[in-house]
Amino acid sequence: MLKRTKYCGQVSEEDLGKEVILCGWVHRVRNHGGVVFIDLRDREGIVQVVAEEKTHPEAYEVADSLRSEYVVAIKGVVRKRPPGTENPKLKTGYYEVFAHRIEVLNTSDPLPFPVDEDTPVSEELKLKHRYLDLRRESMKENILFRHRAYQLTRHIFIKHGFVEIETPFLTKSTPEGARDFLVPSRLHPGKFYALPQSPQLFKQILMVAGFDRYFQIVKCLRDEDLRADRQPEFTQIDFEMSFVEEEEIMSFSEELVCTLFKELLGIELKRPFDRLSYGDAMENYGSDKPDRRFGLKLVDLTDVFKNTSLKVFKDAIENGGVVKAINFKSSYLSRKEIDELTQFVQTLGAKGLAWIKVENGKLNSPIVKFLGDEELTLLVKKTDAEEGDTLFFSADARETVYKILGNLRLYISKKYELVKDNTFDVLWVVDFPLMEWDVEEGRFVSLHHPFTSPKEEDIPLLEKALKTSDVDEKKRLVHSVRARAYDLVINGYEVGGGSIRIHRRDIQEIVFKLLGISEVEAEEKFGFLLRALRYGAPPHGGLAFGFDRLLAIMRGLDSIRDVIAFPKTQKGICPLTGAPDYVSPKQLKDVHIKVFE
Ligand code: ASP
Repeated sequence: MLKRTKYCGQVSEEDLGKEVILCGWVHRVRNHGGVVFIDLRDREGIVQVVAEEKTHPEAYEVADSLRSEYVVAIKGVVRKRPPGTENPKLKTGYYEVFAHRIEVLNTSDPLPFPVDEDTPVSEELKLKHRYLDLRRESMKENILFRHRAYQLTRHIFIKHGFVEIETPFLTKSTPEGARDFLVPSRLHPGKFYALPQSPQLFKQILMVAGFDRYFQIVKCLRDEDLRADRQPEFTQIDFEMSFVEEEEIMSFSEELVCTLFKELLGIELKRPFDRLSYGDAMENYGSDKPDRRFGLKLVDLTDVFKNTSLKVFKDAIENGGVVKAINFKSSYLSRKEIDELTQFVQTLGAKGLAWIKVENGKLNSPIVKFLGDEELTLLVKKTDAEEGDTLFFSADARETVYKILGNLRLYISKKYELVKDNTFDVLWVVDFPLMEWDVEEGRFVSLHHPFTSPKEEDIPLLEKALKTSDVDEKKRLVHSVRARAYDLVINGYEVGGGSIRIHRRDIQEIVFKLLGISEVEAEEKFGFLLRALRYGAPPHGGLAFGFDRLLAIMRGLDSIRDVIAFPKTQKGICPLTGAPDYVSPKQLKDVHIKVFE
């Protein structure tokens, strides 16, 4: 076999007149009568190969027999392309390799889809033949980008004194809020390992062990109902530090993110990143991961309508709710478009969507006649309503209004392509409540996880909450306890989240009690962490980035599947391997499992 001396994509000026041996895939082949042109492709790119009948009949004959995606080795001499035939779009576009010898290393069946960027192919088919999909230029670049980001990340951690430590995959269930993937134990009938939802408890234990700074780029597994663009296995950049507070963790995270953007994209992000409190994020954007690249801020109008006679607004306010609006500026919406947006909010559970258009200097809407002059004047002022604008209202319980208008603004921004350029809106969301009341479960649940520390100054509120038996008072007190947690948000996605942890047992106990986790349950679920915390746990905290999401955002991709070599479909299936699949009765018996249909 001919031994490769060069990558196709690296043929350059310095090779002119020299002999090279290239190995790769036939991207395209065309016979121009007596001359065959081959676009030969490998990991590094494409180069044009020419085989000429007159001078090298054997090479020509082989070249003529080639088909798409055959694997070949080609020996030839690099020369300049004749003037006028250069291809400036290709890195190698000024050169070609004049073939002396061509060896076919393997043939290829006709392809289920062409290896190009232009042919639309279904997700299922692409993933079934992922090896072909990954040959496409954009996919190949995504995976190589991931590799560079991975190496750079590791380098940054090492430069800052972090120690890379692997944590187990076969472990005990950790409380991250999602469902665990379970692995039945063959040796211990009826017992199960859980696959880790994150290394959370292990990294805390590593701090107790004294490693001081830990990191890992690690797979996490969560058996969640698959929402849009979630993967059951995904990668986190996970780290933990001892003897630090929020500032150090946030500052190191900024350093990491900024270095990745700078080195991989040549983009300087502005530091320090903006910070927004959870309360402000919800009030202004209806979301704890706001995308601020387009306006459509939520404007509070509860005050404006406090004495209104418009029933829907009045009822909402009387029931302790709020009235808010967003202003879709210069939208000149038609009735049809408004109806379409109304249908959208109905899918979120809204009864309807009140709106007002500013048209020909007038406020136009079926609700205007129910509103007084003063209300209208104030409304216009507060929402900055101008000719061509459309206002959309939501009047309901505060959380419902956040949900309706928060989602509506995102929907509008997509539908009307309000984000034009490839900008990055990076911010921290801080001051999260430690817990919220889960109506369905009828108990408090952690917003992050139960090991997140409350703010020092809010601890007395927790203690009070624990003592009172008045449920409303308890809720009020608990809701005002803020967590020492922080989320990093880019373009409306939560790309990272973490917290300072509780390292004192007494506080951990109060938190468990309020979460309704009994001592027995706490001991059973994470007794191993609680035990560790008794033996000199340093103050510590950390964060985890969603690596896949971060990469997808950096590359301007909508789906994290495009930065994962072998992702699952939206339904959690791997069309390449056919997983998940049935196993043999023997395998089931070995692990003491019986399947009920
Ligand atoms: N373990 C957390 C998560 O997976 C991150 C952290 O708190 O460090 O979201």
